[in-house]
Amino acid sequence: MSLALATKIRKHMVSAISDYHMLAEGDRLMVAVSGGKDSTIMLLLLDEIRKRAPFAFTLDPVILDQKQPGFDCAAYSDWLQNQGMNLKIISEDTYSIVKDKVPEGKTYCGLCSRLRRGILYNYAADNGYSKIALGHHRDDMNETLLLNMFYVGRIASMPPKLFSDDGRNTIIRPLAYIPEQWLRDYEQELSIPVIPCNLCGSQDQMRRQEMKHLLRDMEQRIPGVQSSLQTAMKNIRASQLLDTKLYDFQG
Ligand code: SF4
Repeated sequence: MSLALATKIRKHMVSAISDYHMLAEGDRLMVAVSGGKDSTIMLLLLDEIRKRAPFAFTLDPVILDQKQPGFDCAAYSDWLQNQGMNLKIISEDTYSIVKDKVPEGKTYCGLCSRLRRGILYNYAADNGYSKIALGHHRDDMNETLLLNMFYVGRIASMPPKLFSDDGRNTIIRPLAYIPEQWLRDYEQELSIPVIPCNLCGSQDQMRRQEMKHLLRDMEQRIPGVQSSLQTAMKNIRASQLLDTKLYDFQG
């Protein structure tokens, strides 16, 4: 295992956790894992951070079995067990609902992820978890920024920390500063028995893929563009934009 890479990712996670006040003494953290590389690496390194933290908090990995055909998390659960983690499995058949409600030819992902979010949020609130960690990384945030700008006409991304509207949940994204390439490289060293997400065979979020490819192309021409995009999100000049709600042009 490349200690240097694991250490680099962990240090950037600690910076994000600290910058956005993601964790505090006594937190009970539910780590929502999908069986993919991002959330799994987040889980392993959060546990390392927990062991070194100057304050006490606990964490539990939780996965949702949505009853997609062929979904099997047994190997993944065993692998986590070997890493000293006890995976909690929630089973809810959202697959049948999605098949039933989404018209033929339309993509399932929107409804599927809304239902998944609702179930995980309820589970966290009912089981006394103070926060939920999600495995979105820097590149996911950049893609969301472009999606919002290009398709919605809004400058917004995924927040590193979010309080849900009903006040029941706090969501954190400890991978906010992590480029996906670091996670890909680290995955090679871990041999995670990944559970693929698109077992349902639906179109896989075409627009997001489009943004991913666009950013990859741009990175070839403008090295460091992904990091500049993230820096831009931390450096908003309201007076140099056009939003009259953010800046008092009259005054
Ligand atoms: S790919 Fe399948 S499992 Fe993943 S969000 Fe879309 S519908 Fe849900």
